[in-house]
Amino acid sequence: MTVPHSSEIAAALAPDVLDRLLRYVRIDTQSDRAYTQSPSTPGQLELARVLVSELLALGLADAAIDALGFVTATLPATVEGAPVIGLLAHVDTSPDAPGAGVEPLVHADYDGGVIALPRNGTRLDPQRMPELSAKVGHDIVTTSGDTLLGADDKAGVAEVMAAVAYLAAHPELPRPTIRVGFTPDEEIGEGAKVFDLDAFGADCAYTLDGSEAGEFTDETFTAASANVRIRGVDVHPGFATGKLVNATRLAGEILARLPPELTPEATAEREGFIHVYSVDGSAGAATIRTIVRDFDDDRLAEHVALLRRVAEEVVASEPRADVEVEVAAQYPNMRTFLDERPEVSAAAEEALRREGFEPRRVPIRGGTDGSILSARGLPTPNLFTGGHEFHSVREWASAQDMASAAAVAVRLAGVWAERA
Ligand SMILES: [Zn+2]
Repeated sequence: MTVPHSSEIAAALAPDVLDRLLRYVRIDTQSDRAYTQSPSTPGQLELARVLVSELLALGLADAAIDALGFVTATLPATVEGAPVIGLLAHVDTSPDAPGAGVEPLVHADYDGGVIALPRNGTRLDPQRMPELSAKVGHDIVTTSGDTLLGADDKAGVAEVMAAVAYLAAHPELPRPTIRVGFTPDEEIGEGAKVFDLDAFGADCAYTLDGSEAGEFTDETFTAASANVRIRGVDVHPGFATGKLVNATRLAGEILARLPPELTPEATAEREGFIHVYSVDGSAGAATIRTIVRDFDDDRLAEHVALLRRVAEEVVASEPRADVEVEVAAQYPNMRTFLDERPEVSAAAEEALRREGFEPRRVPIRGGTDGSILSARGLPTPNLFTGGHEFHSVREWASAQDMASAAAVAVRLAGVWAERA
């Protein structure tokens, strides 16, 4: 028997959320790391245009796409004096799995067994997916097996749209001014950097871009990239005696000296790491590219210092070689900024409670648009969407949890209306 919804609001929202997800995922909005303009791909604009026409139909008269592909719209307040809040979701999908030709499937009233998808032999095995095994009785949305689903983050887009449609149809419910924003290029870490926050004009915002029902995130990694460039001396191997200095061999030695316990595969929860994600080398020159992550800024600096020390020590053993370590900040832990505005996360927790969830604060071992937006002055924690196994052909979402997420957005409006 299908599980009951988390509330009457969720039950009312459920058909609309599911219908929207099934429509939006069919538009290929994969972003492209070869980013030269915003948005990085035209498919994102296609979905943006659909969203604008739907927002206009709901009565949000200022709905529009700006020059960089961001969709914004205003749902006017029904109470006076409350702060303006933003509801955000990203329209792009990950470049890490096929994103074109998505054909979603709904497995009604999930029985707890293996879900075998029609293409590529893709299977969703609850033995390996504890979150799925807990969804007996849910309606599970999957791919056909050979693409991602794009619930990351079209579940969030569908939930924001359904919540706004519900609020627009219920002017008797107290709500603050709500600014809706659909952003491009989250998956490649670009969109939030160029979002026009002055034009958006919100006091705080929430991304709907998380996973398991009841979770919210006010903490992410602090992230840096660190590239080690080694220059050797390239000589024809036949004439190399005493002359050749092989940069790639030096790179190998640096890699061998990096601590294996400081890698993504050997760390969990609040532990940081140095992740070597590519190595290019010839005899004359080699580059080791890494990302460095930690929840604590001082520990992040220690990891970077360790990488630099190892590289310099190894290369110092060969006076004719030289090394440069190039470090760039990527995104900060949003916690630093959200701690200054505790009422923003408190409102999220209150909205979750009103929808029947005991809020779980989950630090994410990654970043979200909210990391960048919070650092840029718009405090933005992240709420769950009900989607799982993101960036893979096994991606799935629970229709009931998506309805709950939309209901949490409706509750959030109520919580902020009381702060008038
Ligand atoms: Zn996402």
